[in-house]
Amino acid sequence: MTSAIYPGSFDPVTFGHIDIIKRASKLFDSLTVSVLDNKAKSALFSADDRVKMLEEVCADIPNVTVDSFSGLLVDYVRKNNFDVVIRGLRAITDFEYELQMAQTNRKLLLQADTVFLTTSLEYAYLSSTTVREVAAFGGDISLFVPDSVAERVYKKYRENGEQNGRKD
Ligand code: ADP
Repeated sequence: MTSAIYPGSFDPVTFGHIDIIKRASKLFDSLTVSVLDNKAKSALFSADDRVKMLEEVCADIPNVTVDSFSGLLVDYVRKNNFDVVIRGLRAITDFEYELQMAQTNRKLLLQADTVFLTTSLEYAYLSSTTVREVAAFGGDISLFVPDSVAERVYKKYRENGEQNGRKD
């Protein structure tokens, strides 16, 4: 049994992430997609909301489970005894950072080997940041995320807008 972990911010999950999840789920017996709950980084969605969105989009993939973690990835890998860490590689710009992370993780924990899946070309440009930026200005994000996710993103910006516009 080979178990893999795909960690990330997933703020929100995009078709690019889903492509990696589907492909990784075919390569390993089990795949845990895990939301990094990084309190130091301000996210659009809470970790719980990001988990919910991932659960919805992964519901029909039988060997995928969704979780969240905080702290060091290597501690989470050790605790859950994962065999492999999955990361997606888009462009050359991802490579330097991802290589550094993978090597650091392996130095900290030999067992934490990273397997990179290269992005499908149709999603090579896609990032959660782009999705948030387009949605913040009311643009169409239906090409980037599933409908269930798009609804939550628009709702979140509407709520945030209402809060910002409120006068005390
Ligand atoms: P991070 O974990 O760096 O905050 P994300 O949550 O956006 O970033 O992404 C998690 C992982 O998914 C990273 O390995 C990232 O390179 C990969 N990824 C993000 N978007 C895509 C995409 N469009 N195609 C393939 N891989 C992607």
